[in-house]
Amino acid sequence: MESFQKKLDRYLDARQPILLIDTFEDDKAEEVIERLAKRRRRKIRRWSFRDATVTKKGLKDWLAQFVDDEQDLMNSVLVLKDMQASMEDPEVISHLKYLAQQINRGLFEEDGLDEFNILLIAPFARIPRELECYTSILSLDYLGEEEIRSEIRNFVGELEIRKPQPELMDKLIMTLRGLTGTEIFNILELAVTDGNTLDYTDLPLIREQKQQMIKKSGLLEMIHVKERMEDIGGLEVLKDWLQKKAGIFANVKKANDFGVITPKGVLIVGMPGCGKSLAAKAASKAFDIPLLRLDMGRLMGKYVGESEGNMRRAIQLTEASSPCILWIDEMEKAFAGIGSNGNGSEVTMRLFGNFLTWMQEKESMVFVIATANDITKLPPELLRKGRFDEIFYVSLPNKAEREKIFEIHIGKKHRDDLKSIDMKRLIEKTEGYCGADIESVVHDGLEIAFLAGKESVSTEDILEAIKTTHSISETMKDSLERMAKNYEERKFKSASK
Ligand code: ATP
Repeated sequence: MESFQKKLDRYLDARQPILLIDTFEDDKAEEVIERLAKRRRRKIRRWSFRDATVTKKGLKDWLAQFVDDEQDLMNSVLVLKDMQASMEDPEVISHLKYLAQQINRGLFEEDGLDEFNILLIAPFARIPRELECYTSILSLDYLGEEEIRSEIRNFVGELEIRKPQPELMDKLIMTLRGLTGTEIFNILELAVTDGNTLDYTDLPLIREQKQQMIKKSGLLEMIHVKERMEDIGGLEVLKDWLQKKAGIFANVKKANDFGVITPKGVLIVGMPGCGKSLAAKAASKAFDIPLLRLDMGRLMGKYVGESEGNMRRAIQLTEASSPCILWIDEMEKAFAGIGSNGNGSEVTMRLFGNFLTWMQEKESMVFVIATANDITKLPPELLRKGRFDEIFYVSLPNKAEREKIFEIHIGKKHRDDLKSIDMKRLIEKTEGYCGADIESVVHDGLEIAFLAGKESVSTEDILEAIKTTHSISETMKDSLERMAKNYEERKFKSASK
């Protein structure tokens, strides 16, 4: 990936009028800006909210002086910090637009002035619509392995504590990936408060802090996974496929050298409550890498550029946390409304475009598992071959699968009772039940047995629970039939044997 400094350098050369630097780390961004400005012999003209409390000059008046006297901008870079609140002020927008237009028209050159640029540093991309066409967004890179290593070295050096041994160092680096310099520093500070050393006992705390930081992004959540492949009843074809991909992931370098491509991901569509989410979780255990869930609903922001900014941030955070599984739950919710003719709201379309490009070009160790119920709401491009390695559909469990699901859920709490359970009767009475329905009748059956003061659960208890349950096939009959027809027509691969 091109470094932030290189990208900024290129944009400055290209005379991009306004650059929004999307970061919390303004110190770092300014460091790079100063370096580049010095190289170009440019002056930095800075406005920040804090400076303004001293100078008593609001952003509007500060910008007005340049609009009135363009000469004052000779050889300079305007750097605006914490300006979000002022970005809704029509006068501020109008001044910025005027200056951006001057840059675009090359008026400054005619006047004998060198070019200049306007740089905005802010953690959230909120660009007023009027300025959108003059603005490019840049984000600060997350730290690479070597940079994290040197952050840790600097940290222990400053505190004069023992340098971590190579093995611990590697573990620390792995755990701290996906975070910015400031975040890493803050986590390390917290980790050493217990005894002024950095050792293995600090790793769980560091992991927990990292989970919190990912959560704070509001877009991704690191899911704690207990589920294993053995906890899924049926879906043998899907499980088998996932195991094979896990095998490639575990030996990716060797596989690549052999000519095998790094797996990209899978789309699992199908009936609700039939184990799609369960498969995503169990995959995380089989691959032995963390599971990050992307909340697509949260991507949508109300400001121009905010949604794309969120998508970029989520992708960046995911890539930097690789190897990992990115689980996109209920994908249809995010991309709903993009019809076969490519219609959809502008933002949704752009978001979708960004996602497809990333999927297409992705080389990192991020395995995407997207799950969806209603594929009619998904854009057709997404279903085309090549986007995902495979598309599976999950249908209601057949007899053999229902038996396995009963075994799993009864076995979790009452393994010993399994021998006396008449599976055949349970299976017969649960035609049209999904996995979640079966789990729920097992729970209800246990409750019935408990309230009757029994020591164990019997077939009768569960049958009684079945009598009072309305399965998914009853409650959603029409939409299930429509879904089943759709999957068959599209010839997706069945997850079951
Ligand atoms: P939705 O589309 O509604 O999110 P889903 O297909 O993702 O549904 P899950 O969340 O995986 O469904 O299933 C809900 C619960 O039902 C699971 O946590 C699990 O306990 C149980 N379950 C579903 N399918 C199976 C299965 N094949 N084997 C064992 N348990 C299952």
